[in-house]
Amino acid sequence: MTNPSAWLHRWSRLSRLCLALACLGAVNACHPSQTAQAPTPTEALAPTPTIAAPSLSASPTLPVSEALPESQPEEQAYLLLPTPVEDPLLFIFPTPRPAPVSAWRPPLYPTPWAPTPQDHFYFARPIAANEINWPLADYRYGGVFLPEVVHTGIDIPAPQGTPVLAAGDGRVIWAGYGLFKGKDDPDDPYGLAVAIKHDFGYQGDYLYTVYGHLSQVNVARGQQVATGDQLGQVGQTGKVTGAHLHFEVRVGRNTFSQSRNPELWLAPPQGWGVLVGRVMGTSGLPIHNQPISVAAKENRQTWTVITYGEGAVNSDPYYQENLVLGDLPAGDYTILIPFAGTLYNYDVHINPGMVTYFRFQGRKGFHSDLPPTPGVEFAPPEALPTP
Ligand SMILES: [Zn+2]
Repeated sequence: MTNPSAWLHRWSRLSRLCLALACLGAVNACHPSQTAQAPTPTEALAPTPTIAAPSLSASPTLPVSEALPESQPEEQAYLLLPTPVEDPLLFIFPTPRPAPVSAWRPPLYPTPWAPTPQDHFYFARPIAANEINWPLADYRYGGVFLPEVVHTGIDIPAPQGTPVLAAGDGRVIWAGYGLFKGKDDPDDPYGLAVAIKHDFGYQGDYLYTVYGHLSQVNVARGQQVATGDQLGQVGQTGKVTGAHLHFEVRVGRNTFSQSRNPELWLAPPQGWGVLVGRVMGTSGLPIHNQPISVAAKENRQTWTVITYGEGAVNSDPYYQENLVLGDLPAGDYTILIPFAGTLYNYDVHINPGMVTYFRFQGRKGFHSDLPPTPGVEFAPPEALPTP
């Protein structure tokens, strides 16, 4: 076990690194050939090909396209990418915040974890528990890092070379450069990436997970993988300036536009829960890019989470949320939302292993009633008459 001061030092170092990095990055961000560390050779999965990120001393090796099996019709969905008017994966970083005080979390609930019919924590974490395996707080799903450019995944600040693991059983449908552009291109913003089409779905839709910015890929397209199998290693390929894993969950089709918030799909730590909110103005329209504070009553530890920006982000069909804060220890919290010159506050109890839901509707304040159960009478909140 690493001693706590070493952990803290490491976390602090990682935090600085990640606050300096640019995930799917800024213009002139670090290219693979500028990486400070050469990729370490893979030791596991010897029978499968390894695709390594290029370094200063090695030219890119891109064996993928020649070796690809014929794809199935549904796997060609990635070719149906929206035409990028501007690169939707570019962004810059907001103001740094202090690092968390603890780098330890409990073991995760076993997957699939589905405490209610509406919840779907189907995936294990793509980084093992001996490293930080939770999202960077400032770079959550739905954050906007350039005008009208929104983050379609979460970033996990693991060091270069950390094994990247399959979040669930499935088949590899992409392995190499070009996930976004649909063709083998080292300048693809995702860099070296893997996509998995899972063996299970949700409400009739296929589920996909995406792992970006790898330093090397240890699986081949068409390969069947199980939860926890190593797919590759954390790197900084694509448009980034520091090592981290970009992780996405996609529903229905393997396209950039089909993402959902991974914090609603990754099993929480045991004894911890997930806060899900829909933050609206008085008229019922969602408020974008609104910082919300969540304070633990026990120790006043405070989290800040920002409501989804506009763009290629999708709410869960049931919750219609625009805010998710995962990995909260069970207990009592106060939600604080500034609105029209007033600071509104609301007490909630986070239950272990479950979603705690709230709605905020401007001057009408807070509600904690769950959305109606899907059925013939079900309609999303914006389709309902204002009470
Ligand atoms: Zn990212």
